[in-house]
Amino acid sequence: MSENSSFSAPRSALSEAFVAVIGGGPAGLLAAQRLAEAGLRVRVYEAQATVGRKFLVAGHGGFNLSNAEELRTFAQRYGSQGSRFQDLLSHFSPADLRAWAADLGIATFVGTSGRVFPEAAHKPADLLRAWLQRLRGLGVELHTRHRWLGFAGASGLRLRNETAGSDGPEYVLEPAATVLALGGASWAKTGSDGAWVPLLEELGVPVVPFAPANCGAEVGWSSFFKERVGRAPLKNIGLRVNDGPQVRGEIMLTDYGLEGTPVYALTPQVRAALASGQPAVLHLNLKPDLAPAALLAKLRQRRAGASLPDFLRKALHLGPPVPTLVREVLPEVTPLTAEQLAELLVALPLPVTGLRPLDEAISTAGGIAFEAVDEHFMLRQRPNTYVAGEMLDWEAPTGGYLLQGCFSTGAWVARGIVAKLRNS
Ligand SMILES: Cc1cc2nc3c(=O)[nH]c(=O)nc-3n(C[C@H](O)[C@H](O)[C@H](O)COP(=O)(O)OP(=O)(O)OC[C@H]3O[C@@H](n4cnc5c(N)ncnc54)[C@H](O)[C@@H]3O)c2cc1C
Repeated sequence: MSENSSFSAPRSALSEAFVAVIGGGPAGLLAAQRLAEAGLRVRVYEAQATVGRKFLVAGHGGFNLSNAEELRTFAQRYGSQGSRFQDLLSHFSPADLRAWAADLGIATFVGTSGRVFPEAAHKPADLLRAWLQRLRGLGVELHTRHRWLGFAGASGLRLRNETAGSDGPEYVLEPAATVLALGGASWAKTGSDGAWVPLLEELGVPVVPFAPANCGAEVGWSSFFKERVGRAPLKNIGLRVNDGPQVRGEIMLTDYGLEGTPVYALTPQVRAALASGQPAVLHLNLKPDLAPAALLAKLRQRRAGASLPDFLRKALHLGPPVPTLVREVLPEVTPLTAEQLAELLVALPLPVTGLRPLDEAISTAGGIAFEAVDEHFMLRQRPNTYVAGEMLDWEAPTGGYLLQGCFSTGAWVARGIVAKLRNS
C-alpha cells in the first residue's frame, strides 16, 4: 500500500468484491479498519495528498480523543440525536476508543475535566502513523489524491486520479458497498470542504445547511476597547446565553469578540437566538464562585474615591481587562454604585453580533439529515451507500465528543456493511 499511490484500477480488480471508503478522516479510517478486521477487502480513497489532516489539526490543540463521562450523560451531548448516539456509543464506546488506541501502542489518560488524551509522549502523528501501519497490515489499500466526483449508475462511483494533477484521468469503481466519510465544512484546507453536498442533493438526499459549531462569537467592541485590550484571557468565569444555563471555564477576549470552551459550548444557543431574530446576549459572570451577597458586601467596602481598577484587583482579584470591560458595557454611568457593579460582575451583558465564519469553526452543524439514512446509516436513496462522521447532521461540544462521535459512527456503518454482505 502506498500513501501516494498512482493507482488506476485494473479491469480485473473492478469485478472483485471490495468496500470503498471515501474520505480518510477518523470516521472513514475506523470504518476501514473494522471492515478489514471482519475479513473484507477495503480500499480507501482520499482527495488530499495525505489522510487524517483534520485529525492532526485537532492534535495541535488539546487532542482530546474522548471523554470519561458515563454513557448516558455522554449521549446527551449530541443534543436531539442523543438517543441515537446512545446506541452508537454502546457499540463503540469511549472505553473501546481507549482500548483501540492502546492496541496501537498509544496509552491514554483521563484529565481532571474527564477528557481523554494520549499520554504526553505520544504525538498525534505517532497515533496516525501507528494506525496507518495497522491498516496496511490488514491489507487496506489507501489511495490518496483520488477524488470522489459522484455516483455512476446504480452502484458505481466516479473518481479522479489526481496524483499527477487535478486534471488526471477519471475512472469508475463498482464496490460491493461504499462508505462516504467526507467530513463537514470547516477548515477546508484539511480537505473537509463540504463540496459533496450537491452530489448528495442530486440524489434527493436531504442535507441540512451547514452552520458553524464550536466557534468564536463576535461582539461589536469599540475601537478603544480593541486597542486597549486586544487579546486577553479571563479565567474561571461563567457564561450563559440570555436566560440559559451557565457554562464554566476560561475565555479569550479578542479584537472581534470571544473565543474559548464556554463560548464554543454555547454556539447552538447563540445560533438559535440569532436565527430567531432575538438579541443573543452572552452574560459573563466574572465571580461565579462568590455568592451574590458576599460579592455585594465586598463591593460596599470600596472607599469613596478609590480607583475602580485598583479596587477590583485588590479586593476581587479582577485585574485588567475587567475594568475596561465594565466601562465598555456601561460607559455613561459614573460612578457605579456597589449594587450596579455587583450586577454587572455576575452578568456582564455582551451582545453577540454573529458567529465566526464557518471555515474557522472546530466543527459544523448540519449535514445529511438523519431521516435520509436507515438504522445502519445506509442512504435510503441509494442502497449499499453508507455515511459516517461529521457529514451527518449532528453536533456536540468540544471535550472529546466530536472524535468519539466520528469513531462511533465509523464503527457503526462497518457493522451494518459486514452484516449485509455476509447475508447477501
Ligand atoms: C482546530 C480543530 C481542533 C479540533 N480538536 C478536536 C479535539 O480535540 N477533540 C475532538 O473530539 N475533535 C476535535 N476536532 C474535530 C475533529 O477533528 C473532527 O470532528 C473530525 O476530524 C471529523 O472526522 P471525519 O472523519 O468525519 O471528517 P474529516 O476528518 O473532516 O475527514 C474527511 C476526509 O474526507 C476527505 N474528502 C472530502 N471530500 C472528498 C472527496 N470528494 N474525495 C475524497 N476524499 C474527500 C477530506 O480530504 C478529509 O480527509 C477539532 C477540529 C478542529 C478543526
